[in-house]
Amino acid sequence: MTLGTSIENRDVQNYIGGSWNSPSGSDGQEIVNPATGDAISHVTFSSQSDIDDAVQQGQQAFEEWRETPVEERIQPLFRLKQLLDEHQDEMARLLVKEHGKTFKEAKGELRRGIENVEVACGIPSMMQAGHLPNAAPDIDETAVRKPLGVFTAITPFNFPGMIPLWFLPYAVATGNAFILKPSERDPLTAQYLFDLVEEAGFPDGILQLVNGGPDTVNTLLEHEGIAGVSFVGSTPVAKHVYETAAANGKRVQAQGGAKNHIVVAESADLDFAAEQTVSSAFANSGQRCLANPVAVVVDEIYDKFADRVTDIASDLTVTNGLDDDAEMGPLITSEHQSRVEQYIQEGIDDGATLLVDGRTLETPEAGNFLRPTIFGDVDPSMSIAQEEIFGPVLALVRAEDFADALSIVNGSRFGNAASLFTDRGSDARQFRHTVEAGNLGVNTGTAAPMAFFHFGGWKDSFFGDLHAQGEDMIHFYTDKAVYIERWPDA
Ligand code: NAD
Repeated sequence: MTLGTSIENRDVQNYIGGSWNSPSGSDGQEIVNPATGDAISHVTFSSQSDIDDAVQQGQQAFEEWRETPVEERIQPLFRLKQLLDEHQDEMARLLVKEHGKTFKEAKGELRRGIENVEVACGIPSMMQAGHLPNAAPDIDETAVRKPLGVFTAITPFNFPGMIPLWFLPYAVATGNAFILKPSERDPLTAQYLFDLVEEAGFPDGILQLVNGGPDTVNTLLEHEGIAGVSFVGSTPVAKHVYETAAANGKRVQAQGGAKNHIVVAESADLDFAAEQTVSSAFANSGQRCLANPVAVVVDEIYDKFADRVTDIASDLTVTNGLDDDAEMGPLITSEHQSRVEQYIQEGIDDGATLLVDGRTLETPEAGNFLRPTIFGDVDPSMSIAQEEIFGPVLALVRAEDFADALSIVNGSRFGNAASLFTDRGSDARQFRHTVEAGNLGVNTGTAAPMAFFHFGGWKDSFFGDLHAQGEDMIHFYTDKAVYIERWPDA
């Protein structure tokens, strides 16, 4: 296949055993450009026999790959990193067409994905487990990590380029085979990624791609040839994946939804905090698990902060993500747009103050566009403060003082991330010690860890124990054994 060239003109395909084939199931759906409403491709879902085939090819390839020296296993990853760098612009343009985010956001996402390939190239050091000579009289003990077989990752629509790379490079570097099932809403970026995978020269069957929807996911979860499952998506599905995969004897890590908070303390630099809050709430049109769609502001500075946030958000340029001046793109589907608008209506009905109504402001005619919307004086019990909206809606909550703000944050059932704006170290310390979330930022609007740190939430934002990225991935993709050896003549 020629790199990237025909992706928009072909139906979505599976990559199984080193060959591209059309999925053979009966259901499917159109891939629609959210900025124009144009259908740009079609995905047919995989059948049980497609999945059986992929698992079998993975199992066969695993037998040789697990014995391949680690130094050889990482060579195709170095090539993949180089190919991703070289093709980043073309891949980002495709990503914008199927997802809607801005070109700059798409490039940023790919960079964060590539970072994971870079980290996984260090597996020869990261995968070592330990050796102790003379652990007992005449006894040497050695701990080793061993790969387990065929893993799968089931990924969401909002980062179709980055999230597959939270898993894929680590799975194969540690010696496993890996099957990706991307979101059926924007599967074209994964088509491009697997064109690059093919070019990078992994052995057939080591990296595979299957397309489909919920039935495909359930087939993978119940398949006896799958050793472990990584999932990223909404909380109800994450819980289902966690329970079903575990009931079928698999390792599982399932990242769920979020409703993150920014706390603005009285000593914060208000201009900076307001800029960062707008960027955090509205980047990717609010469709980010690390977005902070609730800002809890200490009473003393609340009014000033509300004015600044409102001014900045009202000025954002909302248009097709491929336009040079785009600062925010459309939502993924028209159904999702209606759902977000329903939440806005609920906020009004519950009595919050609508400071900016994104529904009424001008946007491009076609596409699922909704401008930034801001509510003031939101009570923490309202649905717009509690539930994941996953759209460009920011709720401002007034806190009596800093301690009150922290308790509002911990009142959420989610715990993916939280950020604090302050000028005081003691606030920062109290925040770090008190807040129940997995990714904590101080004076940064979006608490996104680099690839060499783990990424994962708490509470209803995560089911499992080992998180994505970094060292946690090595533990997830391997099991440990200890060799206890005695050689009395030595
Ligand atoms: P989603 O849960 O609808 O879909 C995710 C994946 O699950 C897709 O591949 C889809 O095919 C599959 N799926 C959907 N419904 C299913 C079902 N009933 N049974 C089995 N499989 C099913 O999520 P989405 O809308 O694509 O993505 C947005 C969600 O992902 C948000 O909730 C967001 O917070 C979350 N997310 C979380 C993180 C994190 O790190 N915690 C990161 C990104 C996105």
